[in-house]
Amino acid sequence: MIHNWLHNTWQQIHLTANPLVDSAATTAAQQVTCPAGASSMTNVGYLVAAVLFILGIKGLTHPRTAVRGNQLGAVGMLIAVLVVLLVDGRVSWPLAIVGMLLGGTAGVWLANRVQMTQMPQLVALFNGFGGIASALVAGAEVLRGSASDVAVAGVAAGLTGLIGSVTFSGSLVAAGKLHELPQFKRPWSFPKQQWVSAALLLIGLLLCWMMRDGSGTEFIPLVLLALALGVLLVTPIGGADMPVVIALLNSYSGLAAAAAGFVIGNNVLIIAGSLVGASGLILTNIMCRAMNRSLAHVLFAKLEATGAAADADEVYSGKIKQTSADEVAMLLDGVQRVVMVPGYGLAVAQAQHVVRELANLLEAAGVTVEYAIHPVAGRMPGHMNVLLAEADVPYDQLKEMDEINPTFAQCDVAIVIGANDVVNPVANTDPTSPIAGMPILNVHEARTVIMIKRSLSPGFAGIPNPLFAADNCLMLFGDGKQALMELVSALKDN
Ligand code: NDP
Repeated sequence: MIHNWLHNTWQQIHLTANPLVDSAATTAAQQVTCPAGASSMTNVGYLVAAVLFILGIKGLTHPRTAVRGNQLGAVGMLIAVLVVLLVDGRVSWPLAIVGMLLGGTAGVWLANRVQMTQMPQLVALFNGFGGIASALVAGAEVLRGSASDVAVAGVAAGLTGLIGSVTFSGSLVAAGKLHELPQFKRPWSFPKQQWVSAALLLIGLLLCWMMRDGSGTEFIPLVLLALALGVLLVTPIGGADMPVVIALLNSYSGLAAAAAGFVIGNNVLIIAGSLVGASGLILTNIMCRAMNRSLAHVLFAKLEATGAAADADEVYSGKIKQTSADEVAMLLDGVQRVVMVPGYGLAVAQAQHVVRELANLLEAAGVTVEYAIHPVAGRMPGHMNVLLAEADVPYDQLKEMDEINPTFAQCDVAIVIGANDVVNPVANTDPTSPIAGMPILNVHEARTVIMIKRSLSPGFAGIPNPLFAADNCLMLFGDGKQALMELVSALKDN
Protein backbone atom coordinates (compact mmCIF):
# COMPACT_ATOMS: atom_id res chain seq x y z
CA MET A 1 0.00 0.00 0.00
CA ILE A 2 2.72 2.45 1.01
CA HIS A 3 4.56 1.55 -2.11
CA ASN A 4 1.53 2.14 -4.35
CA TRP A 5 0.87 5.49 -2.74
CA LEU A 6 4.51 6.58 -3.09
CA HIS A 7 4.66 5.30 -6.61
CA ASN A 8 1.44 7.06 -7.70
CA THR A 9 2.53 10.30 -6.05
CA TRP A 10 5.91 10.10 -7.74
CA GLN A 11 4.29 9.43 -11.10
CA GLN A 12 1.98 12.43 -10.71
CA ILE A 13 4.92 14.71 -9.91
CA HIS A 14 6.87 13.22 -12.77
CA LEU A 15 4.05 13.50 -15.33
CA THR A 16 3.33 17.08 -14.33
CA ALA A 17 6.99 17.87 -14.79
CA ASN A 18 7.40 16.02 -18.09
CA PRO A 19 4.24 14.96 -19.93
CA LEU A 20 6.23 13.84 -23.00
CA VAL A 21 7.60 10.90 -21.12
CA ASP A 22 4.07 9.55 -20.80
CA SER A 23 4.00 8.34 -24.38
CA ALA A 24 7.37 6.72 -24.12
CA ALA A 25 6.12 4.93 -21.05
CA THR A 26 3.82 2.84 -23.14
CA THR A 27 6.61 0.91 -24.83
CA ALA A 28 6.54 -2.78 -24.22
CA ALA A 29 10.05 -2.84 -22.83
CA GLN A 30 9.20 -0.41 -20.08
CA GLN A 31 6.02 -2.29 -19.22
CA VAL A 32 8.13 -5.35 -18.66
CA THR A 33 10.97 -3.77 -16.71
CA CYS A 34 9.51 -0.87 -14.79
CA PRO A 35 6.32 1.09 -14.19
CA ALA A 36 4.99 3.39 -16.87
CA GLY A 37 6.64 6.80 -16.98
CA ALA A 38 9.25 5.89 -14.45
CA SER A 39 12.04 4.89 -16.80
CA SER A 40 13.48 8.29 -17.67
CA MET A 41 13.14 9.53 -14.08
CA THR A 42 14.90 6.36 -12.98
CA ASN A 43 17.75 7.04 -15.36
CA VAL A 44 18.00 10.70 -14.34
CA GLY A 45 18.17 9.57 -10.70
CA TYR A 46 20.83 7.01 -11.57
CA LEU A 47 22.79 9.62 -13.50
CA VAL A 48 22.77 11.99 -10.53
CA ALA A 49 23.85 9.12 -8.27
CA ALA A 50 26.66 8.16 -10.68
CA VAL A 51 27.94 11.75 -10.87
CA LEU A 52 27.94 11.91 -7.06
CA PHE A 53 29.88 8.59 -6.89
CA ILE A 54 32.52 9.99 -9.24
CA LEU A 55 32.79 13.29 -7.34
CA GLY A 56 32.94 11.25 -4.12
CA ILE A 57 35.87 9.15 -5.37
CA LYS A 58 37.60 12.32 -6.58
CA GLY A 59 37.16 13.79 -3.09
CA LEU A 60 38.73 10.70 -1.51
CA THR A 61 42.02 11.37 -3.31
CA HIS A 62 43.09 13.97 -0.72
CA PRO A 63 42.74 13.98 3.08
CA ARG A 64 41.45 17.55 2.99
CA THR A 65 38.49 16.64 0.75
CA ALA A 66 38.00 13.05 1.90
CA VAL A 67 35.14 13.70 4.35
CA ARG A 68 33.21 15.67 1.71
CA GLY A 69 33.94 12.89 -0.81
CA ASN A 70 32.54 10.29 1.55
CA GLN A 71 29.41 12.36 2.12
CA LEU A 72 28.87 12.84 -1.63
CA GLY A 73 29.20 9.09 -2.19
CA ALA A 74 26.70 8.40 0.62
CA VAL A 75 24.18 10.87 -0.83
CA GLY A 76 24.65 9.21 -4.25
CA MET A 77 23.91 5.83 -2.71
CA LEU A 78 20.84 7.20 -0.90
CA ILE A 79 19.50 8.58 -4.20
CA ALA A 80 20.16 5.26 -5.96
CA VAL A 81 18.33 3.32 -3.23
CA LEU A 82 15.39 5.76 -3.19
CA VAL A 83 15.07 5.60 -6.97
CA VAL A 84 14.92 1.80 -6.85
CA LEU A 85 12.41 1.80 -3.99
CA LEU A 86 10.14 4.66 -5.07
CA VAL A 87 10.36 4.83 -8.85
CA ASP A 88 11.55 1.58 -10.29
CA GLY A 89 8.62 -0.26 -8.78
CA ARG A 90 10.08 -3.77 -8.89
CA VAL A 91 10.63 -3.95 -5.17
CA SER A 92 8.66 -6.00 -2.69
CA TRP A 93 8.31 -3.59 0.25
CA PRO A 94 7.96 -6.18 3.04
CA LEU A 95 11.10 -7.94 1.79
CA ALA A 96 12.99 -4.65 1.45
CA ILE A 97 12.02 -3.62 4.98
CA VAL A 98 13.04 -6.99 6.44
CA GLY A 99 16.35 -6.77 4.54
CA MET A 100 17.03 -3.23 5.74
CA LEU A 101 16.20 -4.14 9.33
CA LEU A 102 18.47 -7.20 9.26
CA GLY A 103 21.32 -5.36 7.53
CA GLY A 104 20.91 -2.23 9.68
CA THR A 105 20.93 -4.26 12.90
CA ALA A 106 24.04 -6.18 11.84
CA GLY A 107 25.71 -2.89 10.82
CA VAL A 108 25.00 -1.16 14.14
CA TRP A 109 26.11 -4.25 16.08
CA LEU A 110 29.37 -4.46 14.13
CA ALA A 111 30.04 -0.72 14.32
CA ASN A 112 29.74 -0.83 18.11
CA ARG A 113 31.79 -3.98 18.52
CA VAL A 114 34.64 -3.77 16.04
CA GLN A 115 37.84 -2.03 17.18
CA MET A 116 39.47 0.46 14.81
CA THR A 117 42.39 -1.95 14.41
CA GLN A 118 39.97 -4.65 13.24
CA MET A 119 38.62 -2.47 10.42
CA PRO A 120 40.73 -4.19 7.72
CA GLN A 121 39.16 -7.57 8.56
CA LEU A 122 35.76 -5.90 8.46
CA VAL A 123 36.56 -4.35 5.07
CA ALA A 124 37.60 -7.81 3.85
CA LEU A 125 34.27 -9.21 5.07
CA PHE A 126 32.37 -6.33 3.39
CA ASN A 127 34.12 -7.16 0.11
CA GLY A 128 33.25 -10.83 0.54
CA PHE A 129 29.59 -10.25 1.40
CA GLY A 130 29.30 -7.75 -1.46
CA GLY A 131 30.59 -10.44 -3.81
CA ILE A 132 28.28 -13.20 -2.58
CA ALA A 133 25.28 -10.81 -2.55
CA SER A 134 25.88 -10.08 -6.24
CA ALA A 135 26.21 -13.81 -6.95
CA LEU A 136 22.92 -14.56 -5.14
CA VAL A 137 21.03 -11.79 -6.96
CA ALA A 138 22.31 -13.00 -10.33
CA GLY A 139 21.58 -16.63 -9.43
CA ALA A 140 18.00 -15.83 -8.35
CA GLU A 141 17.39 -13.86 -11.55
CA VAL A 142 18.71 -16.53 -13.90
CA LEU A 143 16.96 -19.37 -12.07
CA ARG A 144 13.71 -17.35 -12.22
CA GLY A 145 14.21 -17.16 -15.98
CA SER A 146 12.73 -13.68 -16.39
CA ALA A 147 15.49 -12.04 -18.46
CA SER A 148 14.60 -10.66 -21.88
CA ASP A 149 18.01 -11.48 -23.41
CA VAL A 150 18.61 -15.00 -22.12
CA ALA A 151 22.14 -15.41 -23.50
CA VAL A 152 23.53 -12.13 -22.14
CA ALA A 153 21.82 -12.56 -18.75
CA GLY A 154 22.95 -16.20 -18.54
CA VAL A 155 26.63 -15.50 -19.23
CA ALA A 156 26.56 -12.38 -17.01
CA ALA A 157 24.97 -14.43 -14.21
CA GLY A 158 27.70 -17.04 -14.64
CA LEU A 159 30.43 -14.39 -14.40
CA THR A 160 28.73 -12.85 -11.36
CA GLY A 161 28.57 -16.26 -9.69
CA LEU A 162 32.23 -16.94 -10.53
CA ILE A 163 33.69 -13.57 -9.47
CA GLY A 164 31.32 -13.06 -6.53
CA SER A 165 31.99 -16.49 -5.03
CA VAL A 166 35.78 -16.21 -5.50
CA THR A 167 35.56 -12.82 -3.75
CA PHE A 168 33.53 -14.32 -0.90
CA SER A 169 35.73 -17.27 -0.01
CA GLY A 170 38.96 -15.38 -0.81
CA SER A 171 37.87 -12.53 1.45
CA LEU A 172 37.06 -14.91 4.31
CA VAL A 173 40.60 -16.33 4.11
CA ALA A 174 42.04 -12.78 3.87
CA ALA A 175 40.00 -11.72 6.92
CA GLY A 176 41.36 -14.78 8.79
CA LYS A 177 44.92 -13.79 7.87
CA LEU A 178 44.37 -10.17 8.90
CA HIS A 179 42.85 -11.34 12.18
CA GLU A 180 46.03 -13.40 12.57
CA LEU A 181 44.05 -16.61 13.15
CA PRO A 182 46.65 -19.38 13.48
CA GLN A 183 44.89 -21.52 10.82
CA PHE A 184 45.29 -18.77 8.21
CA LYS A 185 48.33 -16.76 9.30
CA ARG A 186 50.99 -18.84 7.57
CA PRO A 187 50.86 -19.16 3.80
CA TRP A 188 49.70 -22.63 2.80
CA SER A 189 49.87 -24.49 -0.50
CA PHE A 190 50.34 -27.95 -2.03
CA PRO A 191 52.39 -29.09 -5.05
CA LYS A 192 50.99 -27.93 -8.40
CA GLN A 193 48.39 -25.79 -6.61
CA GLN A 194 48.67 -23.09 -9.28
CA TRP A 195 47.82 -25.65 -11.97
CA VAL A 196 44.77 -26.78 -10.02
CA SER A 197 43.66 -23.14 -9.66
CA ALA A 198 44.20 -22.50 -13.38
CA ALA A 199 42.17 -25.63 -14.23
CA LEU A 200 39.32 -24.53 -11.91
CA LEU A 201 39.33 -21.09 -13.52
CA LEU A 202 39.10 -22.57 -17.02
CA ILE A 203 36.26 -24.91 -16.03
CA GLY A 204 34.51 -21.94 -14.37
CA LEU A 205 34.74 -19.86 -17.55
CA LEU A 206 33.45 -22.81 -19.56
CA LEU A 207 30.44 -23.14 -17.23
CA CYS A 208 29.79 -19.38 -17.63
CA TRP A 209 29.73 -19.84 -21.40
CA MET A 210 27.39 -22.84 -21.07
CA MET A 211 24.98 -20.68 -19.09
CA ARG A 212 24.05 -18.75 -22.23
CA ASP A 213 21.14 -21.19 -22.74
CA GLY A 214 19.49 -19.49 -19.74
CA SER A 215 18.53 -22.74 -17.96
CA GLY A 216 20.72 -21.87 -14.97
CA THR A 217 21.54 -25.55 -14.28
CA GLU A 218 25.29 -24.84 -14.23
CA PHE A 219 24.97 -22.07 -11.64
CA ILE A 220 25.25 -24.05 -8.38
CA PRO A 221 28.22 -26.22 -9.50
CA LEU A 222 29.86 -23.02 -10.75
CA VAL A 223 29.44 -21.31 -7.37
CA LEU A 224 30.88 -24.33 -5.50
CA LEU A 225 33.86 -24.46 -7.84
CA ALA A 226 34.44 -20.70 -7.46
CA LEU A 227 34.31 -20.94 -3.66
CA ALA A 228 37.11 -23.52 -3.77
CA LEU A 229 39.05 -21.38 -6.24
CA GLY A 230 38.84 -18.31 -3.93
CA VAL A 231 40.36 -20.31 -1.06
CA LEU A 232 43.14 -21.72 -3.27
CA LEU A 233 44.00 -18.28 -4.65
CA VAL A 234 44.43 -16.55 -1.29
CA THR A 235 45.86 -19.23 1.06
CA PRO A 236 49.36 -19.26 -0.53
CA ILE A 237 49.78 -15.49 -0.26
CA GLY A 238 51.99 -14.30 2.60
CA GLY A 239 50.88 -11.82 5.24
CA ALA A 240 53.12 -9.00 4.00
CA ASP A 241 51.36 -9.06 0.61
CA MET A 242 47.87 -8.79 2.14
CA PRO A 243 47.44 -5.06 1.26
CA VAL A 244 47.55 -5.98 -2.43
CA VAL A 245 45.13 -8.87 -1.95
CA ILE A 246 42.61 -6.70 -0.10
CA ALA A 247 42.70 -4.06 -2.85
CA LEU A 248 42.28 -6.77 -5.49
CA LEU A 249 39.35 -8.43 -3.71
CA ASN A 250 37.74 -4.99 -3.41
CA SER A 251 38.05 -4.65 -7.16
CA TYR A 252 36.56 -8.15 -7.70
CA SER A 253 33.53 -7.25 -5.55
CA GLY A 254 32.94 -4.24 -7.83
CA LEU A 255 33.25 -6.37 -10.96
CA ALA A 256 30.76 -8.89 -9.53
CA ALA A 257 28.30 -6.04 -8.84
CA ALA A 258 28.74 -4.66 -12.37
CA ALA A 259 28.11 -8.12 -13.86
CA ALA A 260 24.99 -8.46 -11.65
CA GLY A 261 23.86 -5.10 -13.06
CA PHE A 262 23.83 -6.66 -16.54
CA VAL A 263 21.80 -9.60 -15.26
CA ILE A 264 19.03 -7.50 -13.72
CA GLY A 265 19.36 -4.61 -16.21
CA ASN A 266 20.20 -2.02 -13.55
CA ASN A 267 22.33 0.86 -14.84
CA VAL A 268 23.42 2.25 -11.50
CA LEU A 269 24.66 -1.16 -10.40
CA ILE A 270 26.72 -1.39 -13.59
CA ILE A 271 28.16 2.10 -13.06
CA ALA A 272 28.82 1.76 -9.32
CA GLY A 273 30.29 -1.74 -9.80
CA SER A 274 32.56 -0.53 -12.58
CA LEU A 275 33.73 2.39 -10.44
CA VAL A 276 34.57 0.07 -7.53
CA GLY A 277 36.22 -2.40 -9.92
CA ALA A 278 38.32 0.27 -11.62
CA SER A 279 39.29 2.13 -8.44
CA GLY A 280 40.15 -1.21 -6.79
CA LEU A 281 42.46 -2.03 -9.70
CA ILE A 282 44.13 1.39 -9.45
CA LEU A 283 44.57 0.86 -5.70
CA THR A 284 45.99 -2.62 -6.39
CA ASN A 285 48.51 -1.04 -8.74
CA ILE A 286 49.46 1.62 -6.17
CA MET A 287 49.85 -1.06 -3.49
CA CYS A 288 51.99 -3.21 -5.81
CA ARG A 289 54.26 -0.26 -6.46
CA ALA A 290 54.41 0.53 -2.74
CA MET A 291 55.54 -3.05 -2.07
CA ASN A 292 57.78 -3.10 -5.14
CA ARG A 293 55.97 -6.22 -6.36
CA SER A 294 54.32 -7.12 -9.62
CA LEU A 295 50.74 -8.39 -9.31
CA ALA A 296 51.87 -11.67 -10.89
CA HIS A 297 54.53 -12.01 -8.19
CA VAL A 298 51.98 -11.50 -5.40
CA LEU A 299 49.49 -13.93 -6.91
CA PHE A 300 51.77 -16.62 -8.31
CA ALA A 301 55.18 -16.35 -6.58
CA LYS A 302 56.43 -19.71 -5.46
CA LEU A 303 56.46 -20.11 -1.69
CA GLU A 304 59.87 -21.75 -1.86
CA ALA A 305 61.26 -18.31 -2.73
CA THR A 306 60.72 -17.27 0.85
CA GLY A 307 63.63 -18.37 2.99
CA ALA A 308 63.54 -19.19 6.67
CA ALA A 309 63.58 -16.02 8.78
CA ALA A 310 66.72 -15.34 10.76
CA ASP A 311 66.65 -16.48 14.38
CA ALA A 312 65.56 -13.60 16.67
CA ASP A 313 68.09 -14.53 19.41
CA GLU A 314 70.89 -14.42 16.87
CA VAL A 315 69.83 -10.96 15.69
CA TYR A 316 69.21 -9.36 19.09
CA SER A 317 71.37 -11.19 21.64
CA GLY A 318 73.49 -8.74 23.67
CA LYS A 319 72.85 -5.86 21.27
CA ILE A 320 69.62 -4.27 22.54
CA LYS A 321 69.91 -0.90 24.32
CA GLN A 322 66.90 -0.02 26.46
CA THR A 323 66.04 3.58 27.34
CA SER A 324 63.51 5.46 29.49
CA ALA A 325 61.13 8.39 28.97
CA ASP A 326 63.41 10.68 31.05
CA GLU A 327 66.46 9.80 28.93
CA VAL A 328 64.56 10.41 25.70
CA ALA A 329 63.31 13.78 27.04
CA MET A 330 66.95 14.78 27.68
CA LEU A 331 67.94 13.60 24.22
CA LEU A 332 65.21 15.73 22.66
CA ASP A 333 66.51 18.83 24.42
CA GLY A 334 68.15 21.07 21.81
CA VAL A 335 67.42 18.94 18.70
CA GLN A 336 66.36 20.65 15.48
CA ARG A 337 64.42 18.07 13.51
CA VAL A 338 62.32 15.12 14.70
CA VAL A 339 60.48 12.65 12.46
CA MET A 340 57.59 10.63 13.88
CA VAL A 341 57.14 7.23 12.24
CA PRO A 342 53.71 5.76 12.98
CA GLY A 343 52.86 2.09 12.42
CA TYR A 344 50.22 -0.48 13.30
CA GLY A 345 51.11 -0.25 17.03
CA LEU A 346 50.07 3.41 17.06
CA ALA A 347 46.61 2.30 15.97
CA VAL A 348 46.50 -0.50 18.58
CA ALA A 349 47.54 1.91 21.33
CA GLN A 350 45.26 4.70 20.00
CA ALA A 351 48.23 7.01 20.53
CA GLN A 352 47.46 9.50 17.75
CA HIS A 353 46.35 12.31 20.09
CA VAL A 354 49.32 12.00 22.43
CA VAL A 355 51.70 11.98 19.42
CA ARG A 356 50.19 15.30 18.43
CA GLU A 357 50.63 16.58 22.00
CA LEU A 358 54.30 15.57 21.90
CA ALA A 359 54.72 17.28 18.53
CA ASN A 360 53.10 20.47 19.88
CA LEU A 361 55.55 20.54 22.80
CA LEU A 362 58.54 20.04 20.51
CA GLU A 363 57.32 22.68 18.06
CA ALA A 364 56.85 25.13 20.91
CA ALA A 365 60.56 24.57 21.65
CA GLY A 366 61.47 25.42 18.05
CA VAL A 367 61.87 21.85 16.77
CA THR A 368 60.73 20.96 13.24
CA VAL A 369 58.39 17.96 13.42
CA GLU A 370 57.31 15.80 10.47
CA TYR A 371 55.53 12.47 10.09
CA ALA A 372 56.85 9.76 7.76
CA ILE A 373 53.99 7.86 6.09
CA HIS A 374 54.68 4.45 4.58
CA PRO A 375 51.96 3.39 2.11
CA VAL A 376 51.36 0.02 3.80
CA ALA A 377 51.94 1.05 7.43
CA GLY A 378 49.12 -0.27 9.59
CA ARG A 379 46.59 -2.77 8.32
CA MET A 380 44.77 -0.93 5.54
CA PRO A 381 45.57 1.57 2.84
CA GLY A 382 45.65 5.08 4.29
CA HIS A 383 45.45 3.77 7.90
CA MET A 384 48.04 6.22 9.25
CA ASN A 385 46.58 9.20 7.39
CA VAL A 386 43.16 8.48 8.91
CA LEU A 387 44.56 8.17 12.44
CA LEU A 388 46.65 11.31 12.25
CA ALA A 389 43.81 13.29 10.66
CA GLU A 390 41.70 12.25 13.67
CA ALA A 391 44.26 14.07 15.86
CA ASP A 392 44.22 17.15 13.55
CA VAL A 393 47.84 16.74 12.52
CA PRO A 394 48.40 19.33 9.75
CA TYR A 395 48.42 17.61 6.33
CA ASP A 396 51.57 19.42 5.22
CA GLN A 397 53.51 17.69 8.01
CA LEU A 398 52.63 14.24 6.60
CA LYS A 399 55.46 13.25 4.28
CA GLU A 400 55.18 10.38 1.81
CA MET A 401 57.98 7.80 1.80
CA ASP A 402 59.65 9.05 -1.40
CA GLU A 403 59.73 12.60 -0.09
CA ILE A 404 61.05 11.88 3.40
CA ASN A 405 63.52 9.06 2.68
CA PRO A 406 66.33 11.22 1.25
CA THR A 407 66.12 13.47 4.34
CA PHE A 408 66.51 10.90 7.16
CA ALA A 409 70.26 11.55 7.27
CA GLN A 410 69.45 15.12 8.36
CA CYS A 411 67.07 13.94 11.07
CA ASP A 412 68.26 14.27 14.69
CA VAL A 413 65.76 11.82 16.19
CA ALA A 414 63.31 9.44 14.51
CA ILE A 415 60.61 8.30 16.94
CA VAL A 416 59.09 5.05 15.67
CA ILE A 417 55.75 4.30 17.31
CA GLY A 418 54.57 0.72 16.77
CA ALA A 419 56.03 0.40 13.25
CA ASN A 420 58.16 -2.62 12.48
CA ASP A 421 58.05 -4.20 8.99
CA VAL A 422 57.94 -0.81 7.26
CA VAL A 423 61.28 0.18 8.87
CA ASN A 424 62.97 -3.24 8.60
CA PRO A 425 66.25 -2.88 6.63
CA VAL A 426 66.15 -6.62 5.86
CA ALA A 427 63.86 -5.69 2.94
CA ASN A 428 66.97 -4.29 1.23
CA THR A 429 69.53 -6.81 2.39
CA ASP A 430 67.93 -10.28 2.33
CA PRO A 431 66.46 -11.37 -1.03
CA THR A 432 64.85 -14.44 0.59
CA SER A 433 62.92 -12.44 3.18
CA PRO A 434 59.10 -12.26 2.88
CA ILE A 435 59.44 -8.46 2.61
CA ALA A 436 62.38 -8.57 0.15
CA GLY A 437 62.28 -5.63 -2.24
CA MET A 438 59.57 -3.77 -0.31
CA PRO A 439 60.64 -0.13 -0.05
CA ILE A 440 61.09 0.88 3.61
CA LEU A 441 61.34 4.13 5.52
CA ASN A 442 65.10 4.67 5.96
CA VAL A 443 64.87 5.53 9.67
CA HIS A 444 68.15 3.69 10.30
CA GLU A 445 69.85 6.68 8.63
CA ALA A 446 68.66 9.09 11.34
CA ARG A 447 71.22 10.11 13.98
CA THR A 448 69.20 8.45 16.75
CA VAL A 449 66.21 6.11 16.48
CA ILE A 450 63.78 5.73 19.40
CA MET A 451 61.75 2.57 18.90
CA ILE A 452 58.55 2.51 20.98
CA LYS A 453 56.93 -0.93 21.25
CA ARG A 454 56.04 -3.39 23.97
CA SER A 455 58.62 -6.09 23.29
CA LEU A 456 60.94 -7.50 20.62
CA SER A 457 57.98 -9.27 18.97
CA PRO A 458 57.95 -9.24 15.18
CA GLY A 459 55.51 -7.32 12.99
CA PHE A 460 52.92 -8.71 10.57
CA ALA A 461 55.54 -10.39 8.34
CA GLY A 462 56.77 -12.39 11.35
CA ILE A 463 60.51 -11.68 10.97
CA PRO A 464 63.13 -10.16 13.32
CA ASN A 465 64.22 -6.56 12.71
CA PRO A 466 67.99 -5.88 12.92
CA LEU A 467 67.25 -2.16 13.34
CA PHE A 468 66.44 -2.86 17.03
CA ALA A 469 70.05 -4.00 17.49
CA ALA A 470 71.63 -1.13 15.52
CA ASP A 471 74.14 1.18 17.27
CA ASN A 472 71.93 4.28 16.84
CA CYS A 473 68.72 2.60 18.08
CA LEU A 474 67.28 2.86 21.61
CA MET A 475 64.30 0.74 22.63
CA LEU A 476 61.61 2.44 24.73
CA PHE A 477 59.55 -0.58 25.75
CA GLY A 478 55.88 -0.08 26.60
CA ASP A 479 52.43 0.49 25.21
CA GLY A 480 52.65 3.27 22.61
CA LYS A 481 50.19 5.62 24.32
CA GLN A 482 51.57 5.06 27.80
CA ALA A 483 55.19 5.52 26.69
CA LEU A 484 54.35 8.74 24.84
CA MET A 485 52.39 10.09 27.82
CA GLU A 486 55.42 9.46 30.04
CA LEU A 487 57.62 11.19 27.47
CA VAL A 488 55.28 14.20 27.34
CA SER A 489 55.30 14.58 31.12
CA ALA A 490 59.11 14.14 31.24
CA LEU A 491 59.46 16.90 28.63
CA LYS A 492 57.16 19.17 30.63
CA ASP A 493 59.26 18.52 33.76
CA ASN A 494 62.52 19.34 31.96
P1 NDP B 1 53.93 -4.23 11.90
O1 NDP B 1 52.78 -5.16 11.89
O2 NDP B 1 55.13 -4.59 11.15
O3 NDP B 1 54.41 -3.99 13.41
C1 NDP B 1 53.56 -3.46 14.36
C2 NDP B 1 54.29 -3.44 15.68
O4 NDP B 1 53.47 -2.73 16.58
C3 NDP B 1 54.52 -4.81 16.28
O5 NDP B 1 55.86 -5.20 16.13
C4 NDP B 1 54.10 -4.65 17.75
O6 NDP B 1 55.20 -4.97 18.59
C5 NDP B 1 53.79 -3.18 17.88
N1 NDP B 1 52.63 -2.92 18.73
C6 NDP B 1 51.46 -3.59 18.79
N2 NDP B 1 50.68 -3.08 19.73
C7 NDP B 1 51.35 -2.04 20.27
C8 NDP B 1 51.05 -1.10 21.30
N3 NDP B 1 49.90 -1.14 22.00
N4 NDP B 1 51.98 -0.17 21.62
C9 NDP B 1 53.15 -0.13 20.95
N5 NDP B 1 53.49 -0.99 19.98
C10 NDP B 1 52.59 -1.93 19.64
O7 NDP B 1 53.37 -2.79 11.49
P2 NDP B 1 53.85 -1.81 10.34
O8 NDP B 1 52.85 -0.70 10.36
O9 NDP B 1 55.30 -1.48 10.48
O10 NDP B 1 53.72 -2.66 9.00
C11 NDP B 1 52.48 -3.05 8.47
C12 NDP B 1 52.51 -4.52 8.11
O11 NDP B 1 51.17 -4.95 7.91
C13 NDP B 1 53.27 -4.79 6.83
O12 NDP B 1 53.87 -6.05 6.90
C14 NDP B 1 52.16 -4.79 5.79
O13 NDP B 1 52.48 -5.53 4.64
C15 NDP B 1 51.05 -5.45 6.58
N6 NDP B 1 49.71 -5.12 6.09
C16 NDP B 1 49.39 -3.83 5.70
C17 NDP B 1 48.14 -3.55 5.16
C18 NDP B 1 47.85 -2.17 4.62
O14 NDP B 1 47.00 -2.05 3.73
N7 NDP B 1 48.48 -1.15 5.14
C19 NDP B 1 47.08 -4.59 5.09
C20 NDP B 1 47.50 -5.87 5.61
C21 NDP B 1 48.76 -6.10 6.10
P3 NDP B 1 54.95 -5.38 20.14
O15 NDP B 1 54.00 -6.50 20.12
O16 NDP B 1 56.31 -5.72 20.63
O17 NDP B 1 54.41 -4.16 20.82
